[in-house]
Amino acid sequence: MEFGQFNVNALMEITQRPEIVFVRGQGSWLEDHAGKRYLDFIQGWAVNTLGHCPPEIIAALDKQARTLINPSPAFYNQPMVELAERLTSASCFDRVFFANSGAEANEGAIKLARKWGQVNKNGAFKIITFDHSFHGRTLTTMSASGKPGWSTIFAPQVEGFPKADLNDIASVEALVDDQTVAIMLEPVQGEGGVIPATQEFMQGLRQLADKHKLLLIVDEVQTGMGRTGSLFAYQQFGITPDIMTLAKGIGGGAPLAALLARQDVCVFKHGDQGGTYNGNPLMTAVGIAVFDAVTAPGFLEGVNARGKQLSDGLLQLSEKYGMKGERGMGLLRALKLGTDHGPAIVEAARDQNPEGLLLNAPRPNLLRFMPALNVSAEDMDSMLKQLDVLVERICK
Ligand code: PMP
Repeated sequence: MEFGQFNVNALMEITQRPEIVFVRGQGSWLEDHAGKRYLDFIQGWAVNTLGHCPPEIIAALDKQARTLINPSPAFYNQPMVELAERLTSASCFDRVFFANSGAEANEGAIKLARKWGQVNKNGAFKIITFDHSFHGRTLTTMSASGKPGWSTIFAPQVEGFPKADLNDIASVEALVDDQTVAIMLEPVQGEGGVIPATQEFMQGLRQLADKHKLLLIVDEVQTGMGRTGSLFAYQQFGITPDIMTLAKGIGGGAPLAALLARQDVCVFKHGDQGGTYNGNPLMTAVGIAVFDAVTAPGFLEGVNARGKQLSDGLLQLSEKYGMKGERGMGLLRALKLGTDHGPAIVEAARDQNPEGLLLNAPRPNLLRFMPALNVSAEDMDSMLKQLDVLVERICK
């Protein structure tokens, strides 16, 4: 298959992606092989916290590339140390371990919990996770995930991940036994359909964890670094977890992830976890630039203002077309269509001319919105107006 000057036949999934090759991006906009522009409302999925090619990240990459790219991972390096200090000073955690992807950070969290179970709980190893959760695509994180169909696709699964129902504390309690070491969840299920945990449920999990000596692990790969309107989503639930994972947003588009834990949970010995690029200075320097932008005065207020604009706009559309409302936190939101027109809207939005609009439908009856955290009020308004036209055309 050829698009413009590009032949994509050397890639493994040659027939499964849209016939688009992106060549450049700027802020909330992308441009493809044919010069067509797209307003990008799935940046949180593709992780561009500050939009495409933001000056802060370009400057950090340029400076770091001229200073130090990758010493042996057996040593500390300056950006790694500085980013770890920032993350621990802004959270309830004492220690950071860097990784390259969300799946790898979660794999580390699971290993840390299992080792903690060996040291502190007679080898307890089970981690309660949730139906429709998503924790990654390594074999262990697929086993931890509650995505329908995943329990058999690469069978046998890694054992020890019983699944409970989100927001149903009795379903979690029923699974706790002597071999249980932790509970792991996304504060807002992202791939599962933008479903926030309730305050009551999160606090109930913390109490349950304390009662049974379990670790509470939050997977903030999708919700962390400002996406939900606070630096970390757990901060809005009035609880302190024991372990947290970050990816996506922390790198603003660069492959950076982190595993954070309280000091008393940190039972890793040198060599238990790690890899060639863990804490790579090029990526951790980007992480510092993203952290400093997101924690700058006024930035999170902007996220909350745009989040409200999005939420209000989606509610208006929902009322106008008799849909089922919207849900989410900050700039991670979904419109409940009430029909299965999601994929048709995504396709029509993408393919419209002269400018496309990129949306996502994690379920056929749901549209997900994850713009850059610094999206402008004008681009938000433009997206809502385009959506109105698309819904009018497709859902009637
Ligand atoms: N956890 C959550 C909550 C996610 O949304 C994702 C990615 N969609 C992952 C983990 C996996 O992250 P990665 O793709 O970087 O491995």
